Amino acid sequence: MKCPHCKVKAFIRSSEALSELTRKQYYQCSNIYCGHTFTAMQSISETIVPSNCPDPKINIPLSPNSKRMSQAY
Ligand SMILES: [Zn+2]
Repeated sequence: MKCPHCKVKAFIRSSEALSELTRKQYYQCSNIYCGHTFTAMQSISETIVPSNCPDPKINIPLSPNSKRMSQAY
């Protein structure tokens, strides 16, 4: 991810799981003249192809693109 201020690449320095589907990531800008640190959220949003070993506690909506692709066959 790029730093929103100086547009230089920022690196993940740490992350923590908030749930099975969401992680909070801690970023640090690699531009030493900028020095911005910030957090971002990473979350699993859609299933494209369902798992062959599904966890019943996990509920991820099916991608609309997945349905569109399956109708093409
Ligand atoms: Zn920056």
